[in-house]
Amino acid sequence: MKILISADMEGATGVTWPADVLPGTPQWERCRPMFTSDVNAAVIGFFEGGADEVLINEAHWTMRNLLLEQLDDRAQMITGRHKTLSMVEGVQHGDVDGIAFVGYHTGAGTEGVLAHTYLANSVTGVWVDGSRASEGLLNALVVEEYGVPVVLVTGDDRTIEDAKGYAPDAYGVAVKDYVSRYAAVCRTPGRTAADIRSAAGRAAALAVRASPSPPQEHTVELEFDAEHLVGAATVVPGVERTGERRVAYTSPGMYEGIRTFKAVTTVVSAAVEEQYG
Ligand SMILES: [Zn+2]
Repeated sequence: MKILISADMEGATGVTWPADVLPGTPQWERCRPMFTSDVNAAVIGFFEGGADEVLINEAHWTMRNLLLEQLDDRAQMITGRHKTLSMVEGVQHGDVDGIAFVGYHTGAGTEGVLAHTYLANSVTGVWVDGSRASEGLLNALVVEEYGVPVVLVTGDDRTIEDAKGYAPDAYGVAVKDYVSRYAAVCRTPGRTAADIRSAAGRAAALAVRASPSPPQEHTVELEFDAEHLVGAATVVPGVERTGERRVAYTSPGMYEGIRTFKAVTTVVSAAVEEQYG
């Protein structure tokens, strides 16, 4: 049994503030061991639950946040950016039986600690086929095409609530409870590690890969905080203006869909000016 862990940082233990997840800051350095503790607890739990292999994919910012030297020796990790499937890189090789979303968060424009979808401020909302979407939902649609179930989700309590919509059977561990976008009632890393380890141990039983399902067409809509970003986004082929600050595209499947999403957010982030956005 092989488990893939997609590890984002905003939903990690103790994290509540932009500097906590901004590479290079003293606060980020302080939070890296707590993030690593969450991920390592999942690794240990999955091995206890019967996994033979656990692969971690770093999924936050420049994708070099976890402390490799503090991880269980049985794990391996994909560090660094520019990967075909971004946050769920590794799922496409046909050998993953289950995936965990560790340190996840809610989507742009919704309640949740450090809520956003890919870009911190420029993207104010994302919808897939008309329903509001988080990164968790987008990634769940991708892995579904490979027949890989989401078995565990960790983050704040709102993230666990959100996950019930896209992975109703997955185990959820809330490491903190939402107070505001920048505040939470936090539990200690010792306590959250115990909770994650125990949930991962049980979640391993859900890691049963199905045959890949035929790609399904999805329409993805994005809303930005400024009108000029629509002009930037529509440079990407297939992306059309649907409103003053909105664009949409339709993909034949989410393998294409997530790559177009990545292209749009990359182009848009390059068009954001420091003061005016
Ligand atoms: Zn992140």
